[in-house]
Amino acid sequence: MSEKTKKKVLYIVYTLIVVLVMALLSWLGHFEAIRDFLTRVESASFDNRQKVVAKYKKPNKDIKVIALDDESYEYIMDRYGSWPVSRGLWADVLNGVEKAKPNKIIMDLIFAKPTNDTLGDTRLVETIKNNKNIYISANFDNTSQEVRTPKKLDNKFKLNVIGEKLKSNDYITYSNVRFVMDELAKSTSKVGIINVSRDEDGVIRNATPIFEYQDKNYPNLTLLAALDILGKKQVMIMDNKIIIDENHIIPLDSTSRTILNWYGGEQTYEYVSFWRVVKAIKENNQKFLDDNFNNKIIYIGTTATSLSDIKTVPTASLIAGVELHCTFLNNILDNNFIKKLPLKVDFLIAIILSLMVGFYVLREDSIFKTFLFLFLTMGVYALIATFLMACFNYWVSLIIPFSAIIMTFILIYCEKYLLKVKDYEKTYKLAVTDGLTQLYNHRYFQEQMIVQLNNYKRYQTPFSLIMIDIDFFKKFNDTYGHQSGDAVLKQVANILKKNSRTSDIACRYGGEEMTVILTNTSNEPAVFMANKLCQIVRETKFVLVNNEKVNVTISVGVATINDKVEKPQELIEYCDKCLYKAKENGRNQVVSTV
Ligand code: GH3
Ligand code: MG
Ligand code: MG
Repeated sequence: MSEKTKKKVLYIVYTLIVVLVMALLSWLGHFEAIRDFLTRVESASFDNRQKVVAKYKKPNKDIKVIALDDESYEYIMDRYGSWPVSRGLWADVLNGVEKAKPNKIIMDLIFAKPTNDTLGDTRLVETIKNNKNIYISANFDNTSQEVRTPKKLDNKFKLNVIGEKLKSNDYITYSNVRFVMDELAKSTSKVGIINVSRDEDGVIRNATPIFEYQDKNYPNLTLLAALDILGKKQVMIMDNKIIIDENHIIPLDSTSRTILNWYGGEQTYEYVSFWRVVKAIKENNQKFLDDNFNNKIIYIGTTATSLSDIKTVPTASLIAGVELHCTFLNNILDNNFIKKLPLKVDFLIAIILSLMVGFYVLREDSIFKTFLFLFLTMGVYALIATFLMACFNYWVSLIIPFSAIIMTFILIYCEKYLLKVKDYEKTYKLAVTDGLTQLYNHRYFQEQMIVQLNNYKRYQTPFSLIMIDIDFFKKFNDTYGHQSGDAVLKQVANILKKNSRTSDIACRYGGEEMTVILTNTSNEPAVFMANKLCQIVRETKFVLVNNEKVNVTISVGVATINDKVEKPQELIEYCDKCLYKAKENGRNQVVSTV
């Protein structure tokens, strides 16, 4: 193979390796365990990018939280002696905050059942009825029907959706709704759903904007409020997106959820303790209320660690559930959702990077440099991926390209190694072979003599040596020319090769002298073999360069190892003497003892 075709083959194999790696990756994706593992690693890398990016983002200052924190729990227990907060107190708080003219009050709380405090219940219902900017919650679940009858939801709670049908969030089919008490349901239509869903690893990375329940669409609490804030009455679903208006678009994944984009760590939005609000209202401290709540979008939710609405999100391991809603609203208002690029793009990136790394490994001999290039490529790509998230909200896969380039790296190394081994074999063969006869050369003969002698000394395995010399070859050359002489040499060599066992080592000793080392062979079979060779040569018609056919004879010396032999040279000399004797005795014969 010429160097050029060799290179061509090299590059074809390299391309095939990259194709193979991609096929392997997509095939592996069919195994749930592997897919889960890859998803987890990818999610972890997403979290890391979010942590880096979130630091540089400014959360919306208009979003505020009234926090039911640990201090508020103590305060309420001290003053009112019971928890949860009574309906009457909620009515007071909502009315008090309303005096500061907030933009919206969104309650991450469910007033599910009437209480014994009928007066308090009525006051709360009245408050919510009179203040159209208060939003309350409900949630779906799958509680057994014996415990709770499925609730039919009134049409006024539905979301107006035009365009395509929502791809069902069929990962869960809800059978129940934990809804608000009947009186409340009659007095307001502003009820939104607050279900959250965790990924396999327990981290919440997404929100469900629209829920399907009994074949109808119901809005997430935050989407409901956001539509009012933006002055919209309906949404359009198109191409896996929820379009509120041209500037506010929520991308959806295959489970009709949207990936949230985080703005900070554990506490991103400004919190006002619930007890301070209660205190300000009781003390008629209007300034406090105005300063904190005028024109603000207020979420009310529990933040106390003891009250267990604590979640894990990409940027923090413990976060109040209400922060999820703030973040979702912030994403909607800033039109700032994460867009996961399609798998096709991830694979395209993987192919390009794999080709790059593979090409470098093929060309570069230094192992250090190839590893450096591999890590640099991964590092630079990780940086680019973080940059894409920071500037364009794009989530490109890290795990797919990383797996692809590491697999390519290993396979291309194997390819290179195999070729090197082949090259080495070729060079070795050249180094031990005689060019004219293709027998082993003199150097190899000497090496093998040492090996055989050592074997004999250690294991007592006998071996014999046959030495062949063509008779009157000088004259032959003079008569027929050197080229015909060479042709005869080749043909004699072929006879040796054909008639020896694979364990025999046929060599060109030098000039027109050849040797055969017969491993594991004592004298008698060696002499038999020598006679056979002598006879075959005698009976062979050798073809000359002019196609003329002539006869040639050889003389053969045979020697067998014995305990007196110390060095290979001694056995060779003895064999040579036998050969000399054969010449002396008239040639065309075998001699094995002198
Ligand atoms: P003898 O029967 O005593 O062996 O007579 P001989 O003429 O063969 O004598 P000897 O073995 O000393 O001569 C070796 C000759 O072999 C010398 C040279 O012309 C010839 N010869 C050696 N190597 C080559 C070779 O590679 N090609 C050819 N054509 N001839 C060779
Ligand atoms: Mg000779
Ligand atoms: Mg000779």
